[in-house]
Amino acid sequence: MPVTVADLVKYPFLPKARKYLARLDIDFKELAFFPKIREMAKGRVLSSISFGPRTAPQISKDFENEIVTYALALLYVSVIGEDKLTKLFTKSEGDKINYYLKSEKHEDVIFEIAKAFNWDTEKNDDGSISISFSKYLQNASRGRLIHNTKWKLVNRLLEKGMVRLPPYTVARLLQEEVHDRIEESIHHEVTNPPLELQEDISELKAEYQKRKSQFEEIRIEVKAKESEYPPCISFLIDRASNGQHLSHVERFTLVTYLLHQGVEIESIVNLFSKVSDFKEDLTRYQVQNLAGQRGGMIKPYITYNCSTLQTHNVCPLPNDPICNSIRNPLTYHLLKKNIKTKKQRRK
Ligand code: SF4
Repeated sequence: MPVTVADLVKYPFLPKARKYLARLDIDFKELAFFPKIREMAKGRVLSSISFGPRTAPQISKDFENEIVTYALALLYVSVIGEDKLTKLFTKSEGDKINYYLKSEKHEDVIFEIAKAFNWDTEKNDDGSISISFSKYLQNASRGRLIHNTKWKLVNRLLEKGMVRLPPYTVARLLQEEVHDRIEESIHHEVTNPPLELQEDISELKAEYQKRKSQFEEIRIEVKAKESEYPPCISFLIDRASNGQHLSHVERFTLVTYLLHQGVEIESIVNLFSKVSDFKEDLTRYQVQNLAGQRGGMIKPYITYNCSTLQTHNVCPLPNDPICNSIRNPLTYHLLKKNIKTKKQRRK
């Protein structure tokens, strides 16, 4: 089944989407005379710097405009040239694409995306897709998957340097690279926009400057390594792994923290498997719920603040200088990373 225009709306970074745009023969200068497209593109950028809950993306039937607005929004972000805005836009668009990739069943689309990411891939007669061993290792050992043993190479079929996988498994690996690829394309965008679009750019820039200071709080989305987890979380992981009972607040804290670090739902479910009252289906349901998957949202709940955790005796009140400077466990690793970087610079 060929890749359709609806697929290009979901995955607008595909080379086929660029070809589609080229066939429409639309020049960025001409977009100045399409207020609807400009509004849609501005809306795309503004939604990446909004603070409301993120709902599941809806595919608009306005296929042509959707593909054009993605390209225009990239141009806006590229020209504004603010690193933080680039990251937020990448996150917002990347999350949408990953939402689609999670349920992508169309193997030709998955294959096209892998090719667009320059992966060494082959389609097999049985419907599986083979990818190079090095690409597999690179993506299966990234933050989101490293906690789950099913991603270890020994559990995969390796033939002549290629790992044979079902398409949905390739789709999962691709999710690890989506954000990087969007960011790359922003850096490759035209940096000299036509004058007609300068007005939109100034408007977006002003809006971004207005909201800029509030983004310190949402930097919590940067992922932590396990060695950078705060004391309360390490303590809860130890207790859960040893089968000890965790209170509701403790479970909420541990699950939401790990979800924000990109740990897979199945790995979190496994973490509770030794707890005496463990019920796999119920635990999975609760974790999915906290991940926001059951409420039409695409973001997990935010972990409680340290002050709340202290009230509920979840905080071990460690003699830890980082703990004295933060308000929420989700920001612990950011300070830890900063301290580490400063120490390395001094060497
Ligand atoms: S101060 Fe906050 S981050 Fe540190 S251990 Fe307590 S709850 Fe966790």
